[in-house]
Amino acid sequence: MSFVLLHLRKSIIYIFFLSRVLVYIIFTRKIFDTYSNLRRNTRRFCAWNWYKNGKYYTCFSCQVEPSSQPKTGIQVGIDLGVKHLATTSDEQFLSAPKHLRKSESQIKRLQQSISKKKKGSKRRKKVVEVLARTHEKVANRRKDYAHKLSHLLVQAYDFIAFEDLSIPNMVKNHRLAKSIVDAGWGQLVQYTTYKAESASKRVVLVNPYQTSQRCSCCGKIVKKTLAERMHRCTCGYEQDRDINAAINILHLAQQVAAS
Ligand SMILES: [Zn+2]
Repeated sequence: MSFVLLHLRKSIIYIFFLSRVLVYIIFTRKIFDTYSNLRRNTRRFCAWNWYKNGKYYTCFSCQVEPSSQPKTGIQVGIDLGVKHLATTSDEQFLSAPKHLRKSESQIKRLQQSISKKKKGSKRRKKVVEVLARTHEKVANRRKDYAHKLSHLLVQAYDFIAFEDLSIPNMVKNHRLAKSIVDAGWGQLVQYTTYKAESASKRVVLVNPYQTSQRCSCCGKIVKKTLAERMHRCTCGYEQDRDINAAINILHLAQQVAAS
């Protein structure tokens, strides 16, 4: 592949022809230096291109040695939810950023608008195109967020427990835009698992059965509806319902790891 490099003061432009289309990539100097170093120093390096929804993409891939993260000695259980994407057993709430939720509601609006337009009409076609682009944008944003969050989790904890999403948990999925929520959860678990592996840390998946109903202090089952945000047990233990569930998930994972 022949290409032209334009060196500017703050950036570098990489220009080449790809199936008779002129492609140019603008690198900042810092990214370009990283890119050239990788290209020089890695055994396998490849770049590929594709076209989707009116945009050209180029992806660079290289093989690097896994770097193990420093150990923190901290274990965590994580409850995946709707109000907060993730709640940890050490009482942290991690929510999807606002712009992500906003674009998700934008998708709903576009879908409604399509259903009102006449089939085969130009206007409908136009909205369908906008919807495809919006879907893509939201998917990219969600992916980006899952990458950032999973990176933070693997940095902060040595042992991470999630509920196993392949086991259906009907209580949780009640009346939701299921696909949207599920995609976010699945990505977070998937990314955390592979990042943990290359950082020599551990992810354990457990059966979520009764994790939100069981008291994490005494083990008793305390029935509650979805609307009840607090876990209040007769043993005197009171906790946010998601934190209680996260602690149960951690306990289960510790049992799995010990067996
Ligand atoms: Zn209790």
